[in-house]
Amino acid sequence: MSAPNKSYDPVEVESLKPEEVDKARDAALAAFAAAQDLAALQEAKVAHTGDRSPLALANREIGALPPQAKAEAGKRVGQARGQVNQALAARREELEAERDARVLVEETVDVTLPWDRAPRGARHPLTTLAERVGDVFVAMGYEIAEGPEVEAEWYNFDALNIAPDHPARTMQDTFFVQAADGSPDSGVVLRTHTSPVQIRTMLTRTPPIYVICPGRVYRTDELDATHTPVFGQVEGLAVDKGLTMADLRGTLDHFASSMFGEGIVTRMRPSYFPFTEPSAEVDLQCFVCRGASVGDPDNPCRTCRSEGWIEWGGCGMVNPRVLVACGIDPAVYSGFAFGMGLERTLMFRHNVEDMRDMVEGDVRFTLPFGMEI
Ligand SMILES: [Zn+2]
Repeated sequence: MSAPNKSYDPVEVESLKPEEVDKARDAALAAFAAAQDLAALQEAKVAHTGDRSPLALANREIGALPPQAKAEAGKRVGQARGQVNQALAARREELEAERDARVLVEETVDVTLPWDRAPRGARHPLTTLAERVGDVFVAMGYEIAEGPEVEAEWYNFDALNIAPDHPARTMQDTFFVQAADGSPDSGVVLRTHTSPVQIRTMLTRTPPIYVICPGRVYRTDELDATHTPVFGQVEGLAVDKGLTMADLRGTLDHFASSMFGEGIVTRMRPSYFPFTEPSAEVDLQCFVCRGASVGDPDNPCRTCRSEGWIEWGGCGMVNPRVLVACGIDPAVYSGFAFGMGLERTLMFRHNVEDMRDMVEGDVRFTLPFGMEI
């Protein structure tokens, strides 16, 4: 082992001279202070604390010094490196805080902006209502039946015992489809009710028959607050052995309470329809006042005009002549039928006052109904 080189003077090592160490330290501190973002700081860090930085190189020289010089040089370089590392950490903290503050501003989300640029629509309440009615009857074992909207006159009138001279068959009430030769007498009409679906059902099935027929029908009405030339109807038909008006009544009461609330019942008033015998108008107990407004002028009811009942539809026992027209023996089977306007039902349930709202297609009318009614 060779003796230390006595003539070696640490002051002679250029990079370990105090002014050189101070210069390297000051350069590092200045570079950190000048760094304007974290990427620039990273570059300055590599340049001033990396393996090839002046202070690292100076540190490496210490090993070659004689023992008596090592301590002093080590202290000097160590202090300088400590200051550099401290300054680096402090500057990084500052820049990180600045970045975080900037990100908070730049990436701010305005939660009041519309999130849904292509807003979803809603199904038309009449469609949802027709399905709800269907559900009520399917739960009782009924099937849903459908038929064409352009219908043969025979199905729409004759089979339903509506005589050729019946006023409903005039041009004032019915849309007749023009024949190819221009004659209005084509024998085809836009159906005026959903009853032809009942005829089609009875002709193609054998009793027992339990069907509910929702659908669009057409009449030559002008569009106003209470009329529309196209509207929805729902009709029910049951044909079985031993059916009576009591069965009809129970079915209607169940329908009413399913649509308008527990305990709501119906009443029947004698009426006349060619296709039912006997026939009745169906009134719905007022679901707002439940009859309490009758004879009580202090608490009038707008919904039923303080009458306690609201007209809802028509019903009756299927006329035996209709059964015969459909090949069903009225001596064995009897049936009942009923029909309601879907628009009218919707108006009651949801306080819709103008029928035009239902046909104009304004999404602002439809949206509040959402997916459920
Ligand atoms: Zn009422």
